[in-house]
Amino acid sequence: MSDRIAIVAGNWKMHGSLASNALLIQRLMAGLVDVRAKCQVLLCVPFPYLAQVASLVAAGSGQAPLLLGAQDVSEHDVGAWTGETSAAMLKDLGCSHVLVGHSERRSYFGDNNVRVAAKFMAAQRNGLCPVLCVGETLDEREQGRTEAVVAQQLDAVIAAAGVAALDNAVLAYEPVWAIGTGKTASPAQAQAVHAFLRHHISTHDATLARQLRILYGGSVKAGNARELFSQTDVDGGLIGGASLIAEDFLAICSAAGA
Ligand code: PEP
Repeated sequence: MSDRIAIVAGNWKMHGSLASNALLIQRLMAGLVDVRAKCQVLLCVPFPYLAQVASLVAAGSGQAPLLLGAQDVSEHDVGAWTGETSAAMLKDLGCSHVLVGHSERRSYFGDNNVRVAAKFMAAQRNGLCPVLCVGETLDEREQGRTEAVVAQQLDAVIAAAGVAALDNAVLAYEPVWAIGTGKTASPAQAQAVHAFLRHHISTHDATLARQLRILYGGSVKAGNARELFSQTDVDGGLIGGASLIAEDFLAICSAAGA
């Protein structure tokens, strides 16, 4: 970790209920008091619960400020797009961040590099900070294509939005083979890809590259977070399963604030 302020982002995926969310937020608020100054904590919750979590977070903001985010966004701003949710709506509900290009959106919902770039720009156009997810599949890693794949995913956004757009964004490296599988990239594997991404961006803008937060995601747990986050170019994590269990998520936040 460097002097960049770490971020720990929870991705609840399609989990939660009014009752379980209230309990989880209450436990997080109570436990985060100690780590809040050392890292930022972002919760990316399902669309139907954004308003609930926004009001719980607002009610307890003196206790522990939590940032609110969504897990996806439409690339369109308004109109006849049944089932879609616009960035302006997310902003209206109190979101500051939104995930774009999560591997589950890329694999199951047709989010290719062009659409991900359009979503990234829609987020920024409406005052949200996109968390751009990139990562390779196991096949791609075994073929030695990790760097080429993540560079292509990143370059699609740079080509569409310009490199300066990364100034108001967060990058998340999430190897697809590590998401929800219990297989974590080793700290060295994570560091190597993070360093590659930072170097790749530095060929456009060295200052921006130095300041950009790059999160690692993929089976981060309380037991492996500290070592992953201690890597020079790892600025926190994007946490799926473990973000649903207050004590695990709190332990991960502490590891990022260490
Ligand atoms: C994710 O959903 O982005 C993720 C990294 O999940 P998990 O931590 O469960 O692997």
